[in-house]
Amino acid sequence: MLFDKFKSMADFQAELAERQVKPFGAVTEKILSATEGVVEGRQVILAGTNNYLGLSYDARCIKAAKDAAQQWGTGTTGSRLANGSFAGHQALEDEIAGFYGVDHAIVFSTGYAATMGMCATLAGPGDVILMDADSHASIYSGVKLSGAEVIRFKHSDPDDLAKRMRRLGDRASETLIIAEGIYSMLGDVAPLQEIAAVKREYGGYLLVDEAHSMGALGDSGRGAAQAAGVEADVDFTVGTFSKSLGSIGGFCVSQHADLEAIRFCISAYIFTASSSPSIIASTREALRIIGEEPQRRTQLWDNANRLYQGLKSLGLAVGPTASPVVAVEMEDRSQTISCWEALLDAGVYVNLVIPPASPSTNFLLRNSVSAAHSSEQIDTIIAAYAGLRDAGMLPSTKDN
Ligand code: PMP
Repeated sequence: MLFDKFKSMADFQAELAERQVKPFGAVTEKILSATEGVVEGRQVILAGTNNYLGLSYDARCIKAAKDAAQQWGTGTTGSRLANGSFAGHQALEDEIAGFYGVDHAIVFSTGYAATMGMCATLAGPGDVILMDADSHASIYSGVKLSGAEVIRFKHSDPDDLAKRMRRLGDRASETLIIAEGIYSMLGDVAPLQEIAAVKREYGGYLLVDEAHSMGALGDSGRGAAQAAGVEADVDFTVGTFSKSLGSIGGFCVSQHADLEAIRFCISAYIFTASSSPSIIASTREALRIIGEEPQRRTQLWDNANRLYQGLKSLGLAVGPTASPVVAVEMEDRSQTISCWEALLDAGVYVNLVIPPASPSTNFLLRNSVSAAHSSEQIDTIIAAYAGLRDAGMLPSTKDN
């Protein structure tokens, strides 16, 4: 039967309905600020967003969006290749290329389209892709569409990457290597210095998805490659506007002039409508702000350290280093759902992550911080977890 494959999902949905809990697609009924909202009837601190720099609610970005809607209308009603390239799209491409210090940029309608589109198009039948095994779904979708031979290397393991490059022999020099900057679920940063060294030794092309690291890492916020000092080794940087830039859309930047030809070969760019003028305008404003206000990045890391240390000192199973994403590892699905709901009741919204969205078989409560969180809000989040721990709801895997 066509629908048999959905049975386990339908059963899971029925279980959630019976428990009267809605961890997926919980409705935000009101947004009160960049860090507060009303979710499923509770006023909460938003501690499960990707609003790393707090720009989704910045007055300057909102004004830019409003003015653009007034002047340009609500949508372009067309693809970039047809009637959907407005002056703002062109200007944003110039500005994002300038931000990265390269000559070429493509703006996409979503980050998913950017990553998927680039992975699907750069390599084709007869080519080889070597990708990190814990890659985002957009990378998996793209490489599948590409028709290339796809080989996974162990997550953030440059030795495994080198071993596989060695095995490829002559083909290594034409291989597309794919990694991310900050990984979205556990908040770990890819070892880009070592990955770049493998590329230098064996050849190939390196694509880095900086979706979660743009704005968060690097002296000027370009991401993990800038922080690692290896930007010259990265052939293609892809990213999104939906996290640090607080809007929606995606991009690819590159120093390869071929990007201009590649643009005309990407289905996810050609056959979809371009972003609305208001989105483009708020993104341009946000990009300007992240260039001019590096203190937001400092604040983000202060908050990240505060949350990480706080949760760690409660004895929770957090990752090895502080990061804007702090994931707490749980034991099983039922426990994760109960804790997610208890946190919501305590006024804290976090992300509930279960396989296959999480790497390996992890059940996670994914917390993310924003530069816009106050220290009091971070302390409230930590206190909510302390309450769960005291109620015996959390796994006690580590000593305080
Ligand atoms: N790449 C990575 C690594 C991501 O985490 C995401 C979104 N979570 C995307 C791409 C897609 O970006 P968007 O949600 O802006 O479409």
